[in-house]
Amino acid sequence: MKVPLLDLQAQLEYLEDDLVAAVTRVVQSTRYIQGPEVEALEEEVAAYCGASYGVGVSSGTDALLISLMSLGIGQGDKVLTTPYSFFATMGVILRLGAVPVFADIDPISYNMDPARMEEILKADTEREIKAIIPVHLYGQCADMSSIMQLADSFGIPVIEDAAQAIGADCPMILDTNRKIGRAGSMGLAGCFSFFPSKNLGGIGDAGMVVTQNKDFAEKLVLMRNHGAQPKYYHKIVGGNFRLDPIQAAALRVKLPYLDRWHTNRNENATVYSRLLTESTLVGDGRVVCPQIVYSGEFSASGKQLNYHIFNQYVLRVEKRDELREWLQKNDIGCEIYYPVPLHKQECLAKLSIDTHCPVAEKAAGETIALPIYPELTVEMQNYVVEKIVQFYD
Ligand SMILES: *Cc1c(COP(=O)(O)O)cnc(C)c1O
Repeated sequence: MKVPLLDLQAQLEYLEDDLVAAVTRVVQSTRYIQGPEVEALEEEVAAYCGASYGVGVSSGTDALLISLMSLGIGQGDKVLTTPYSFFATMGVILRLGAVPVFADIDPISYNMDPARMEEILKADTEREIKAIIPVHLYGQCADMSSIMQLADSFGIPVIEDAAQAIGADCPMILDTNRKIGRAGSMGLAGCFSFFPSKNLGGIGDAGMVVTQNKDFAEKLVLMRNHGAQPKYYHKIVGGNFRLDPIQAAALRVKLPYLDRWHTNRNENATVYSRLLTESTLVGDGRVVCPQIVYSGEFSASGKQLNYHIFNQYVLRVEKRDELREWLQKNDIGCEIYYPVPLHKQECLAKLSIDTHCPVAEKAAGETIALPIYPELTVEMQNYVVEKIVQFYD
């Protein structure tokens, strides 16, 4: 049996007609820059995320970049982030001449550890840290209650890298106020990627920034279009970070499916975790299943407080590299997110950032992602687990 890591063909089977119609609509409209499809998607995604404004951009990377640009982050500024993420989280900081500062992660959620953040913020007596970028890795929110409380107490804006977490929820407990926060809507801005492998993926590159802040939204809109207002009068230096209307039209076809896909991914995660737990691998510690922090806690309305959208289902395992080879040999797609933590990347060498993040370094050597896409069948999952069990036997 062949089990790919992601199978976009499987969703094309029921989406193709609508996607082709959406693209054709854009072609026939001759509105090829901005226009009604982009505006409609911005409204729909902002509403879905519980945010007031959505600003469509060219990619998740550019969503992060224009957010930092709109904050005025530049040469010599410091930005606090996680060492365990996709490169873009750090790349945008470096491209602006700013310097990343890394707070090590929590070993269970793989997200930035607020206790490490607090140490770093307290040691920053010169107040050089100008922004904080938490990442909601694999589709599970970082501990936003603690992060927002810390950020507010130091007066530092938070830009959420929610590229992997559109639609994820987490508890937001600020003082006595207890509510559910949705990924991207809790910080000053939330950045999304519509890269085809994300839970909401376009038919090419696309991204969006959402925010509750009107002034910041206006700044983002300026920044996305060369800082021009009116046309040909440039108050600030922006760039061309616009969202393509063809992508917007395609994403509008997919957005209504998103909650169902999240449910399917959650069901698949439950099946994997059950099958692995039934084997002896979990009991003897050779395999650790992903854990949902705050699992079982519900709000007054009965809604799960922490909702993981499982963009990735990531195990922590013994003999990771050998397992990966074995799975690939058996036609099972798998991937390592990420083999090298950000603070160990070669491009940072000349900055000589002296950082130790032992938890992230350990995770980078032990984690492996299995196929979790919504159309995955139980037969496929049985086969994957069978092969994992066989490997350790
Ligand atoms: C995918 C991703 C990005 C970048 O998104 P692109 O649309 O590929 O530019 C940024 N951060 C994280 C955590 C991601 O997973």
